[in-house]
Amino acid sequence: MSDPDMLHPELRGPENNDSITRHGRRLDHAEATSKPLRSRPEPQPRGARIHGNRPIDQAEAAARFIAAPEHEKMHDERLWDLRQKRDREMHGIPEWEDLRSLASAIKEHTLVHLDDYLEQFEANARSNGVHVHWARDAAEHNRVVHGILKDHGAKSLIRSKSMLTEECGFRPYMASVGIEVIETDLGERIQQLDHEDPSHVVVPAVHKLRTDVAEVFAKTIGTDPNNSDVHYLAESQREATRPLILKADAGMTGCNFAVAETGGVVVCTNEGNADLSANVPKLHIASIGIEKVIPRLEHVAVFVRLLSRSALGSPITQYTSHFRGPREGGEMHFVLVDNGRSERLGLDEFWTSLKCIRCGACMNTCPVYRRSGGLSYGATYSGPIGLIIDPTFNARKYSNLPFSSTLNGSCSNVCPVKINIHEQIYAWRRELVKRHETPFVKKVAMKAAGELLSRPAAYRAAIAAADIALAHLPRFVLYNGLNAWGKGRENPHPPKQTFHSWHHANRGDKG
Ligand code: SF4
Repeated sequence: MSDPDMLHPELRGPENNDSITRHGRRLDHAEATSKPLRSRPEPQPRGARIHGNRPIDQAEAAARFIAAPEHEKMHDERLWDLRQKRDREMHGIPEWEDLRSLASAIKEHTLVHLDDYLEQFEANARSNGVHVHWARDAAEHNRVVHGILKDHGAKSLIRSKSMLTEECGFRPYMASVGIEVIETDLGERIQQLDHEDPSHVVVPAVHKLRTDVAEVFAKTIGTDPNNSDVHYLAESQREATRPLILKADAGMTGCNFAVAETGGVVVCTNEGNADLSANVPKLHIASIGIEKVIPRLEHVAVFVRLLSRSALGSPITQYTSHFRGPREGGEMHFVLVDNGRSERLGLDEFWTSLKCIRCGACMNTCPVYRRSGGLSYGATYSGPIGLIIDPTFNARKYSNLPFSSTLNGSCSNVCPVKINIHEQIYAWRRELVKRHETPFVKKVAMKAAGELLSRPAAYRAAIAAADIALAHLPRFVLYNGLNAWGKGRENPHPPKQTFHSWHHANRGDKG
């Protein structure tokens, strides 16, 4: 063993001869100089496979995410950490539940009177010198923005994070008309460079390890592929993107709150990137979902107290910027977008999903989301809120999503605007069955389960038979490729007696 050449080449360190032996003798701790067994970082699992209008197979994409243990562990821990921080912040505010109720009431009141508040918002924005446009759907939004950019001869646009524009497929559309879009949010920029959608409404690249980011930056902005130091990566990205930001022809932001009383919009960020997008170029376009309107300026305070605490467990976002009118020599445009919202407002069981302020708290707490990654949902909105919004866009394509939930209710408990998320998920399941949008296998299995559960005698007989089978069947019958449940778990030992038979024997006469 004193000859280092006996080591497999993959295990040898760069200075192998000198570091393992000295004066012809093997060193005591020579192994420490060898390379780690697996020198290549774990490859990043990719999101759901999209096949036109075919239902997204979230379970398949989730299985690939779970099969990448470093990614799954980091994702789960990172989001659970946010959830815990959120809890700590919440406990520091004695009036937290009152704030939630107030926020919910403001949103519900506004949605009930949405037409009035939108008109008020439009009139005030116009009187502030803002150009206001209306877009019925995603295609119209993209055309309107393109028209504004064309009128100004703009060839490049800097953008701060906006889920609405993701919903509209804005980036691919702009690419198709030859306008360069540069994301100013770090996470969103990482996703753009990697040709991926955001995986979370607040932290778009949360599913990536830093080695994934190092790989993306090495390919796109020429950083050292072996350096995954976060400061190095962030600084390199900044150096590469800042010149593009400074010479951009136009800027775009989303909108967290559109205040009817003032005609202004409020954008909350932690990187100040909305301010760059709005203030560096002379042309500022804000895309606004019509549900973002709130009646008065004082209402902003209610939501601002809830938003960042729920999202990241921090008391407030670093930047809460108010944009009310164009600066001198500049131009400001608001594009108010419907894209299915009016229709959703008319859905009895689902209209309150429009209260969502996109804090992401329901994602951070969801055990399915934390372990499957946002891209496994194959939709703009993932996690619990996605399960109730996505089918309103396309019930067939997203028909599997409402089944990706344990219905534990944690999402509803953390939601700062009190959306009954888990009840709406359950309502979507019923709705999809009614519309015959559930897979054949699930339909048959559910029907069989329904038959069994509605016949107590048959149910008890089946349980007894299953207990006998569990105790005596050979292992391969239970643990094979057809039984997904058994892939990662051991079946429990069947009890000698069911609860029902125990109760009958011990308490039956007394009941
Ligand atoms: S549904 Fe509630 S918890 Fe989820 S993102 Fe929206 S506001 Fe936040």
